[in-house]
Amino acid sequence: MNKPLNNLQIVRQRIEKARIAARRRPGEVSLLAVSKRQTAKQIIVLNELGVYNFGENHLHEALLKQKELKNPDLYWHFIGAIQSNKTRGIAENFQWVQSVDRAKVLQRLARQRPTSLDPLNICLQVNIDLEPQKSGATAEEVLQLAVLAESLDNIKLRGLMAIPILTDDLQQQHDSFRKVRCLFEELKVSGHDLDTLSMGMSADLEIAIAEGSTMVRVGTALMGRRKI
Ligand SMILES: *Cc1c(COP(=O)(O)O)cnc(C)c1O
Repeated sequence: MNKPLNNLQIVRQRIEKARIAARRRPGEVSLLAVSKRQTAKQIIVLNELGVYNFGENHLHEALLKQKELKNPDLYWHFIGAIQSNKTRGIAENFQWVQSVDRAKVLQRLARQRPTSLDPLNICLQVNIDLEPQKSGATAEEVLQLAVLAESLDNIKLRGLMAIPILTDDLQQQHDSFRKVRCLFEELKVSGHDLDTLSMGMSADLEIAIAEGSTMVRVGTALMGRRKI
């Protein structure tokens, strides 16, 4: 059995089924393969099966893989907590940053993004359930960060990213995702041109899609247990 192909087919079927159940348009939900703590070899295999977007949460680990892969066709998304001394490496080597949650990081990314490259795609991370141990801005802060983002060069605000509270309570899961969706809609109504609502992972992508996700970030369901 071809494990990566099988995993990919299962994940794509889950996305399609959820998309259809939510009466959403074909192509409205994209897949980000979360390759953190997975090998470069696994990335190659998935890429050969048609996956181009990969998510990493440690700069050093990501740079090692990028160097090994040397594939200019891949899109790299930074999805981890950002220390301000890592912003230059992120601004220079990624196409997307989904975990921006404070002004200092936003300003540094904009300043450090090489002008020779396309604008850096940004999602603001929202800590929707106000969990103290989690990164992410409050809804109030997100509104302010969005205004700041629009004023900066070399970046393009694309939307929001969230990791809702871990719970078995289905209703609470729906509620969390719905709050993120509401904030996303609020930003659009106030004039921001956004197209990306990044929410849903291996365990909860169906619920996220039901609540409006446009990008699911899938690690273990696609690539198996994390290794390195
Ligand atoms: C690890 C991670 C994921 C993927 O989680 P899985 O449960 O393995 O699908 C998604 N988003 C973020 C921000 C992550 O850190």
